[in-house]
Amino acid sequence: MTHSPVWHPFTQHGLGDPVPLVTHAEGAVLHTEDRRRVVDAISSWWVTTHGHCHPRIMAAIADQAQRLDQMIFAGWTHQPAEDLARELCRILPEELTRVFFSDSGSTAVEVALKMALGFWTHRGEGRSRIVVMEHSYHGDTIGAMSVGARGVFNAAYAPMLFDVGRVPFPGNDPQPTLDALEAECAGGAAAFIVEPLVLGAGGMLMYPPEVLAEMRAICARHGTLFIADEVMTAWGRTGTLTACEQADVVPDIMCLSKGLTGGAMPLAVTMASEPIWDAHYSTDRTRTFYHSSSYTANPVACAAANANLAIWREEPVLERIAALAAKQQAHLDTLADHAMVRNARRCGTIAALELGDPGGSYLSDLGPKLLRRFREADLLLRPLGNTVYVMPPYCIEDDDLARIWAEIGTAADAIA
Ligand code: PLP
Repeated sequence: MTHSPVWHPFTQHGLGDPVPLVTHAEGAVLHTEDRRRVVDAISSWWVTTHGHCHPRIMAAIADQAQRLDQMIFAGWTHQPAEDLARELCRILPEELTRVFFSDSGSTAVEVALKMALGFWTHRGEGRSRIVVMEHSYHGDTIGAMSVGARGVFNAAYAPMLFDVGRVPFPGNDPQPTLDALEAECAGGAAAFIVEPLVLGAGGMLMYPPEVLAEMRAICARHGTLFIADEVMTAWGRTGTLTACEQADVVPDIMCLSKGLTGGAMPLAVTMASEPIWDAHYSTDRTRTFYHSSSYTANPVACAAANANLAIWREEPVLERIAALAAKQQAHLDTLADHAMVRNARRCGTIAALELGDPGGSYLSDLGPKLLRRFREADLLLRPLGNTVYVMPPYCIEDDDLARIWAEIGTAADAIA
């Protein structure tokens, strides 16, 4: 390919790796301009739940695009957004009564943080400290970076970021996490934001529903708002519609994006409970929620999300997910005892393991080597440091899934 001016995200161009050009896709398969058939093992950054170019979602997009493409959402509305908001309120816990639209997971998190701070400000209570879990990732905008783990991804931008309280990842013993959270909440924390059950970009770190439930209870005891960042975990990824469901947890605020549109269009929502809305409600402008972007609640994206929700209503999506989860477990089991494999683990359709290289980090050599190796094997797999994970679209064919796992096995052999 000739020189391209495109600057890619999370990509070091100086490494000189080729950048494949994808021309079309269907299901779990991408096709490149040089006629390679690439299996998408990570649902194109965890978004493509039902597979690429799902006919029902594509038809909804095409239909909506003929009628209303885009419009201002401040004080105006349209049917796709109204339908979507009502359906989200119907399928999610009844306490989540209000739906605020935005465009990405990061902005859903920014909105959640602003709602939490607005809640305390408008009630005239001075709470402002946000508490987070170590190793978390919530996005790359300033608020989202501030509440995420600090490290190579954001060290250069530290002057932009605000301080937060941090509790340890629960690991084998959740007590230090619960004690630290208790202390923060007792000290008047405004909100605790957490990825339920699986910390994604932090390395697909998993913890049990009982710990999630306990953390929620601690926040409730002290009035600290509980924000569930379900951007990655919702839409069946962890085996249920949301991860919170497995712990019977109802957050005060929930962030959703990625699979909201089946991964076809950028869209996000921040769901809020009635007290959050009430704190922002006034008959003059004083409590207005000042957040927007030009494309808030884009009608075409909302139509894609409505098609996704119709698929959830009318097709056996959870059965598909359970079947994929069982296949993932079977493949994981074949590698669990490999000398170069550590911490094989699974939550719903997400399977992960660590390869060789003790103490491996994002800057270790193994990650880029694995990335290259998988790309050359026509697989879209993006290890997180030395953590390899598989999170495919729910419609992936058995042969393609087997090919992914065979290649991970070969990569493990190659380290030995
Ligand atoms: N929150 C979580 C848990 C995520 O996994 C991500 C993205 O991976 C985000 C937020 C940010 O979402 P986006 O990349 O759409 O801004």
